[in-house]
Amino acid sequence: MQQLFTQSLLSPNKTAIIDPKGSFSYRQLQADSDRIAKGILAGKPDLDEARVAFMVSPGFDYVRIQWAIWKAGGIAVPLCVTYPLPSLAYVIEDTQAELIIAGPEYEDILRSYALEKGIRLLTIPEVDQLDDTTPLPVIDSGRGAMILYTSGTTSLPKGVLTTHAIIESQVGTLVKAWKWTAEDHTVCLLPLHHVHGIINVVSSALWSGATVQFIHPFYAKEVYGLFLEGKVNVFMAVPTIYFKLIAEFESYSKEKQERLSECMAKFRLMVSGSAALPVSVMERWRAISGHYLLERYGMTEIGMAISNPYEGERRAGYIGKPLPGVQTRLVDEQNHAVELGQPGEIQIKGPSVFREYWGKAEATAKSFTSDGWFKTGDVAVIEDGYYRILGRDSVDIIKSGGYKISALEIEEVLRKHPAVKDCGVVGIPDEEWGELVSAALVTLEPVDEKALNRWMREQMPAYKTPRKYLVVEDLPRNAMGKVVKNELKKLF
Ligand code: ATP
Ligand code: MG
Repeated sequence: MQQLFTQSLLSPNKTAIIDPKGSFSYRQLQADSDRIAKGILAGKPDLDEARVAFMVSPGFDYVRIQWAIWKAGGIAVPLCVTYPLPSLAYVIEDTQAELIIAGPEYEDILRSYALEKGIRLLTIPEVDQLDDTTPLPVIDSGRGAMILYTSGTTSLPKGVLTTHAIIESQVGTLVKAWKWTAEDHTVCLLPLHHVHGIINVVSSALWSGATVQFIHPFYAKEVYGLFLEGKVNVFMAVPTIYFKLIAEFESYSKEKQERLSECMAKFRLMVSGSAALPVSVMERWRAISGHYLLERYGMTEIGMAISNPYEGERRAGYIGKPLPGVQTRLVDEQNHAVELGQPGEIQIKGPSVFREYWGKAEATAKSFTSDGWFKTGDVAVIEDGYYRILGRDSVDIIKSGGYKISALEIEEVLRKHPAVKDCGVVGIPDEEWGELVSAALVTLEPVDEKALNRWMREQMPAYKTPRKYLVVEDLPRNAMGKVVKNELKKLF
């Protein structure tokens, strides 16, 4: 992480972070994280990959604690600030955390738990008052630095261990590809216990000497308020957030809409990822902001791997091309490369790939091929050099009547129907078909199933059209706004 810290030394007086408590310079961030690191060590030479879990609101406190853990040689384990105790305990126990650091608002939820488990707990005020005379260790870049949990979209979240070198590779790649500079000012409204928030937004910005402004929790109104101040020029979010921002925009007066559009047109970059970006959202956002959203693809295990270009054509419905330094291939079930134009599983190699699933040697071994490729479990096809995601092998590729059908493709078509606000497609076990294509719909008005079915058959081959429809109030989503397909299946 030396590079992250060094870059920030180049502009000590510049504002690194703005949060509800104030503005904080790079000098303050360096000094505070140094001091806290020494305090955590107090008497020990090195944390030596000890896991330190921390539950701190997104903002200056969060970043200085995370940097302090890195500087002391520990492994940072960020806890989701909206989790209830059982979910927090899962992460703390799974990582065998030796120390918990809690922001003042989270002391209550963690105090008695930590006491009962015999884990040392420090609150933010306590962390600021530790003895800070222990010198900082020199950290080898191959050392473990962070454990982030996967979103838990397909099964229980898995702890993904990355090293200092891996994080540097993930951040360095994005800084270059998306042309971050010290002039940038970004707003972070994503959770910081996932790659999107902590790597793509916060670490990329701080690596570049830019400014990060935190909004927590997310309110569309507040985001637009900030945009109107005219400082923000880089914005990253997940599709659901763009969806909500569009709805908010549409509730504004013409005059306010025009002012906002003018503001957003001046942004340098707007990015979407973490889940498939519906083409309709991309088009609507283009009309509102003047920007083609840059859609990219990544995972907790690999950071960002495939991205639409910064300069050049950004294609709706596509995730782009492999980022520099990332090796990519598409393979069949025997791990043999598929022919160009055929669907295959994305496999990845390169310096940004994680070291291991924490405490899960078997799962780690199973997720790599014998020649070291990481198996993403996502199926894609290359068209015109651009990758298009067909979905997750486990839930989005529906095997029906001998066909392999992409749920994402069907969802994309369904969303074009005027009565459909949102939808999720899954395969439901069926004796005759293997799996039955089934669609859950969030509707804007009552829908006649027969008429919808006729309409679908005009849009795509009959074998791909849903055999079952179910109208629901909302789709089950996780914290990253991803539809949890296994939950959805249970509804049928
Ligand atoms: P779990 O591994 O616990 O089931 P998860 O896979 O959702 O959860 P993450 O690592 O947060 O956990 O998400 C990575 C996944 O997100 C990818 O494997 C892919 O399925 C999906 N994804 C990311 N970006 C995109 C994108 N642009 N389009 C479609 N899917 C995407
Ligand atoms: Mg996953």
